[in-house]
Amino acid sequence: MFSKTKLICTLGPATESEEIIGKLIDAGTSVFRLNMSHAKHAWARQAVKIVRREAVRRNVHIGVLFDLTGPSIRTGDLPEPFILAEGDIVEFRKVGAAPAVKLSTTVNYDGLMADVAVGNTLVVDNGALLMHIEEVGEDRIACSVKTPGTMGSRRHINLPGVRLNLPAMTEKDHLDLALAVECEADFIAGSFVRDAAHVRELRSAMKALEGDAQIIAKIEDQEAIRNIDAILAETDVVMIARGDLGTEVQFEELPILQRRIVKRCHELGTRVIVATQLLESMITNPTPTRAEVTDVMNAAYEEADALMLSGETSVGRYPERCVDALVRIATRIERSGGLGYGQLVILRDERHKTARAAVMLADSLPGARLVVITRHGLLANQIAMFRPRTNEIFAIATKASLCRKLALTRGVTAIKHAFSPNIEDTIRCVIAVLRSDYGVQPGTPIVVLADIISDHFAANSILLHHA
Ligand code: PEP
Repeated sequence: MFSKTKLICTLGPATESEEIIGKLIDAGTSVFRLNMSHAKHAWARQAVKIVRREAVRRNVHIGVLFDLTGPSIRTGDLPEPFILAEGDIVEFRKVGAAPAVKLSTTVNYDGLMADVAVGNTLVVDNGALLMHIEEVGEDRIACSVKTPGTMGSRRHINLPGVRLNLPAMTEKDHLDLALAVECEADFIAGSFVRDAAHVRELRSAMKALEGDAQIIAKIEDQEAIRNIDAILAETDVVMIARGDLGTEVQFEELPILQRRIVKRCHELGTRVIVATQLLESMITNPTPTRAEVTDVMNAAYEEADALMLSGETSVGRYPERCVDALVRIATRIERSGGLGYGQLVILRDERHKTARAAVMLADSLPGARLVVITRHGLLANQIAMFRPRTNEIFAIATKASLCRKLALTRGVTAIKHAFSPNIEDTIRCVIAVLRSDYGVQPGTPIVVLADIISDHFAANSILLHHA
């Protein structure tokens, strides 16, 4: 039995073979992520093929997520890394401008000088180096080093609290998006999403290519936090990208922001992923630290839809053990009960109210299962958002592509099944499948929620059956 909390594994050199991808599925992975900051196109095509093949072999619906690089700011190439001492002055200049000091590098974002001001903090390499901006010129900025360290080539730069005028998508993102659509990606994540317009731009670029993936907005900076409600209104899923977010805010704010975002996602009915450094030490160690166990437990306790592993599975030594650890920690806390933000879901229309009623009915019947007959997946996502206490939510859909899009919804098992013209016939067949393939015992109460009654009649309804 896997956890209700879904697990996303990033693929990489440590996990590119058929054998290991199969093992990660068997261990409880529901979605595989391709990080387009590192993945080459030929490699990504091959990885998607393997995931699809291994999923079909096991008769499970596994999602594929393309994570676009987004408009990140990076330093230029250096012949030798800079060894920096406190107080050194480092220059960041536009490409094409001549260096004015010895410790000088280019940046890939020409708008940087217009966006920053003297006094801002500049964070290099995810916090490995902290600098203070001392001077801002037309084509360069000068920074004093606050913490000593080494700065190599193409290092990532964060500017906490600074409103950047970066584009929503780069040329590379557009090329990667085309690949994602070609590979029939189930989820496409936009990095550094700062407002709702970014989500709209990504979605319309995808639609222009005739893609139908769900959009994940990665929340990585303070501006995204300020615009969170507007972003939630546009996106299908939110990812709390704690790597970048953790360098953009004071670290003691991060757990509070995580909890606030998870809560708001519940209220507004948006699925939410908690990502990054969940089991960082397991990149090299076979067991998690106590702090990591507590962090994973906290995310599962908050009842996030999914947890995401990055380096732990892409380059780590123990990918399978990592998935196993997440399953163990999540299932344990799920037995004790969660935070209960599902109680806070705002009921905005009749569909929400019907779904809520179905959950209340199922939760009042010992051992009951929920079955959702869903045409577009909306009803299945909606019912999961209430975080029912019942063991499983079975979502019945006619298309494999829709089943895959439910792969990161908490507690949902998607089953591909044809709909009969009459809903009673559909329910009879589905119950037979639950008994034969999913261990549902005869007599188990089955609360069925449907948004279709027959071929010609769509309506929300609740039916109570017994297996
Ligand atoms: C993050 O910053 O937490 C994240 C998931 O994004 P990336 O791995 O692309 O930096």
